[in-house]
Amino acid sequence: MSVFPIRVYGDPVLRTETKEVGEIDDSIRRLVADMIETMYDAPGVGLAANQVGVGRRIAVFDPQDDLGARVMINPRVVHTEGEFEMEEGCLSVPGYFWPITRPEYAVVEATNLEGEAVTYEGDGLIGRVLQHECGHLDGGLLLDAMVKKERKKALAEINRESMGL
Ligand code: ZN
Repeated sequence: MSVFPIRVYGDPVLRTETKEVGEIDDSIRRLVADMIETMYDAPGVGLAANQVGVGRRIAVFDPQDDLGARVMINPRVVHTEGEFEMEEGCLSVPGYFWPITRPEYAVVEATNLEGEAVTYEGDGLIGRVLQHECGHLDGGLLLDAMVKKERKKALAEINRESMGL
């Protein structure tokens, strides 16, 4: 197993929609094992394949419940409810946390590594991670979930930092 370098803000792979996975073969199983290792090494609570430069619709997450990492292949958010604000960060925008408002509860349908249909659902951290990772797989970033004024402020912060000011 190996730890991937994580792609950061500005890398076009983060803005590219990922492709659905067909057959789950050894290369997919290896990729998932390496993504889990990379997530824990970071450390983070979720990781999408395009964050490590692979344009496939795969994400892993760990809702911090001691049951370990979950795998989502071809996940889709099928239902959301409510709304709440939570401090949110991203391994691809390292060092920043912003209060972001998103639906509170989310349901995701996906396939697991055995090729079986699985449903992940929850509010709080789980609901947040599910939406955040599916956003990555659509070519999105947490900045997209901000209202325009907040996004402008956040981008100014990131740009100032990358210029070394
Ligand atoms: Zn992220």
